[in-house]
Amino acid sequence: MQRRDFLKKTAIAGAATSMTPLMAKSNKKVKLKLATSWPARFSIMGTGIEDFEKNVKKMSGGSLEIKVYPANSLVPALSVFDAVSKGDIDAFHSGPYYWKGKNLAFSLFTGFPFGFTTEEHGAWMLHGGGLELWRELYAKYNLYPLMGGNTGMQMGGWFKKEIKSLQDLKGLKMRIPGLGGEVMSKLGVNPVLMAAGDIYTSLERGTIDATEWIAPAHDIKMGFDKVAKYYYAGWHEPGSMLEITFNKKVWDGLSEEHQSIIEAASAQMHSNMIFEFMAENAKALQKINTKKVKIAHFPEPIIKSAKKAFDEVVAEQSAKSDDFKKVWASCQQFLKVARGWSDLGSSAYFKVRNS
Ligand code: CA
Repeated sequence: MQRRDFLKKTAIAGAATSMTPLMAKSNKKVKLKLATSWPARFSIMGTGIEDFEKNVKKMSGGSLEIKVYPANSLVPALSVFDAVSKGDIDAFHSGPYYWKGKNLAFSLFTGFPFGFTTEEHGAWMLHGGGLELWRELYAKYNLYPLMGGNTGMQMGGWFKKEIKSLQDLKGLKMRIPGLGGEVMSKLGVNPVLMAAGDIYTSLERGTIDATEWIAPAHDIKMGFDKVAKYYYAGWHEPGSMLEITFNKKVWDGLSEEHQSIIEAASAQMHSNMIFEFMAENAKALQKINTKKVKIAHFPEPIIKSAKKAFDEVVAEQSAKSDDFKKVWASCQQFLKVARGWSDLGSSAYFKVRNS
């Protein structure tokens, strides 16, 4: 009796094994570590990558786990590039412009002042040669990048005083990173870099006179409306792309199924993040409109000077870096073509919608 029971159980166990899904059979269980540059549950960017983690696990039937580590829990927020490049961890979620110290060209993959909108940027990446260039340059750092979201249009920032002329910008201390900061510097602003957690207090105490951050959804969470009354429309980050980047050896070592799952899950994250930014910014703007905030636009002479200053920044960086020059040429070539359609399509439509 006991022996018969034993045989029965063994037979059932054997049957269960032979019924294991094919996917799990062809893929040995893989566990990867991914570090981000955002705090845990950080709105849209942080929650987006956490959903990616869950989706990858589900899509792979549990054979692929990419555990997400928020900023500073495994490595410091801005050390993720080096850590993945060296192979200490497997992947990161961050933004290419943080690594311009490694290669000036990397800024351009995030975006640039007066440059691509989110839609145009994605078009350049996927259908205009951007992604190939990006992968070619990142390969030198033992990295394999995928698109990892886009913030959409960012605002020009919060100012304590109204900016009526170029004179009003002279000597202002402003938290503004990247190429936008370099343009502002040419207009007489002192660009300051600081950790997210220090911006509000610095603005409140007057250590800085202005700051940019992202757009209404994130800006209102930071409470900037309580310490600065002028909120300017954007020009310097018209659609900043984020990245999900793997150590190249780790990527090359994955099965085709796992690579496809990561591609699908990151594409889903990328598009969902764009729509979530749109929805949340729109809702947050309604809230800002009920507060004592003056929504403003930089006067035309400032925009003209900023464009001229950006041309100078491009000339300087092209002289310093062949990679920058090469990527810039690709951006310009594609932007020239894309804006013809954007101007006739979207811009003309906005005009009639508002008329
Ligand atoms: Ca920003």
